[in-house]
Amino acid sequence: MSIKLVEIDKYAGFCFGVTKAIGSAEKELSEFGVAYCLGKIVHNQKEENRLEKLGLHTIDRDEMQANPPSRMLIRAHGEPPSTYADAKRLGITIVDETCPVVLRLQGLIAKTYQENPDCAIVIFGKKGHAEVNGLVGQTDGKAVVVSSVEEAEKLNISGKIALFSQTTADFQLYMQVADVLRNKHLDVEVHETVCGSVKNRVPRLKEFCANYDVVIFVSDEASSNGRMLYEVCRATNSRSYFVTDANDLRPEWFTGASSVGISGATSTPSWLLEDVKQKCCNIVACNDKK
Ligand code: SF4
Repeated sequence: MSIKLVEIDKYAGFCFGVTKAIGSAEKELSEFGVAYCLGKIVHNQKEENRLEKLGLHTIDRDEMQANPPSRMLIRAHGEPPSTYADAKRLGITIVDETCPVVLRLQGLIAKTYQENPDCAIVIFGKKGHAEVNGLVGQTDGKAVVVSSVEEAEKLNISGKIALFSQTTADFQLYMQVADVLRNKHLDVEVHETVCGSVKNRVPRLKEFCANYDVVIFVSDEASSNGRMLYEVCRATNSRSYFVTDANDLRPEWFTGASSVGISGATSTPSWLLEDVKQKCCNIVACNDKK
């Protein structure tokens, strides 16, 4: 059987928050020839490499303190208030690219914390993730982070709870965590804070995966959104494969297939998806000649 169709998922690629942050980095680079970003601007090493070649430097907190740049980008994940205070003290001009969706969530958590001193703030997300650190920072470090249903079951809090999620959390899992807490507490206020770009992608990705014999999912290993979306692919189509770039593709994956769908995380650049598509087409053409 020869492959008739190799298509890229129209919903794959950067979400608007990442697009905006990268656009801002490119603007800084064209204006100043160099730019500094606190933490990786996107969870994709290939895109990082491209921007580094243009003059982007990724710095960590220690580098910021030791050798403060005059201007510094804050990426879409956002930062806790302490970062802004440190930057001010060090005379750094902040180019704030915190995604508006994350900014709104930070504001909501800060308001809840300030107005309800007796309410425990619980955040469902990945411990140590930059966005989660930024959210916890809105509560003077007092928010409790749970990363799984099991952790929610073990949570020992009495009284009122306000529950929030990291914007890129798995919505279904978040709802399970909410149910666990509701069953343990009478007073849990659940805030639906999973980003629409992530939440809508799951049903769309399921639909996409079901239409192809083989699915290639392109993402960086470090992207939590990528890992979550790849699991969605695998659950829908058993012939789903995870690649970080075109070099990971294997000719045997396409044996007997007549269609290939290519998708990716919210941190996967379009040029990388196009690269993978091109290589898929080359492999398919070679397989056909054999
Ligand atoms: S996934 Fe949503 S919240 Fe996160 S950066 Fe993208 S648009 Fe913003």
